[in-house]
Amino acid sequence: KPVIIVVVGMAGSGKTTFMRQLVCHTHASNLRGYVINLDPAVMTLPFGANIDIRDTVKYKEVMKQFNLGPNGGILTSLNLFATKFDEVISVVESRADQLDYVLVDTPGQIEIFTWSASGAIITEAFASTFPTVIAYVVDTPRSSNPTTFMSNMLYACSILYKTRLPLVLAFNKTDIAQHQFALEWMKDFEAFHAALEADESYTSTLSQSLSLVLDEFYKNLRSVGVSALSGAGMNEFFKAVDDSAKEYMDTYKVALDKRL
Ligand code: GDP
Ligand code: MG
Repeated sequence: KPVIIVVVGMAGSGKTTFMRQLVCHTHASNLRGYVINLDPAVMTLPFGANIDIRDTVKYKEVMKQFNLGPNGGILTSLNLFATKFDEVISVVESRADQLDYVLVDTPGQIEIFTWSASGAIITEAFASTFPTVIAYVVDTPRSSNPTTFMSNMLYACSILYKTRLPLVLAFNKTDIAQHQFALEWMKDFEAFHAALEADESYTSTLSQSLSLVLDEFYKNLRSVGVSALSGAGMNEFFKAVDDSAKEYMDTYKVALDKRL
């Protein structure tokens, strides 16, 4: 069975560019990938998609027809597509023997996918049929501020608990800034506290307390540094995905079967 990789992350974190790199890597490594785009508003895709939401739902038309703004248009397009998602699952199932990975890009604005009913329907449809892993893309240079870092990690944490799926943190844009600081902050909360204290713009006991909570969360995930631009870190990323897929089988699948 193929492993589903659902790529999520803040707008501009580099999801779509990362997807392109994942597609390149699978081609170069003789891995059989199947590519799905769920962003109805993307202008041009830098990779070839086997299934593209834009072929089914015209986002501009949806905006006009339902008198919506851009975010409402994207959300409604995703809702319309989610009603037919069983067909997508059937297509993937019919090819399951010939696939190693299914790569899924999601809309730019993270909450449209992670906090919508259709996002949950799509994620659960995948996760109840295939081993599914969430790749949470982090804009590393933008997360070098400890407070920004923590809000990004809290978001990742909420996705982990909401989906109950294994999660890989992909610290992207390491061609601009290395992610060592993040690994250090996750490993040693005293180092993180020191960084908070050095950040004079914000003195927060809340951040300090939250970092203790996040410590538990960090133990439950894998982190890799990547560059969607240069392709650095792709082997490590796929290794983390494969380990997460094993974890899905051992833990998540068992819990899921109980819930169903
Ligand atoms: P998305 O909204 O998450 O899909 O983000 P995009 O893939 O559209 O990327 C947002 C911006 O970040 C674009 O200008 C990309 O060129 C840039 N970007 C993405 N990945 C990287 C990377 O690894 N390194 C650098 N330097 N820029 C990147
Ligand atoms: Mg995108």
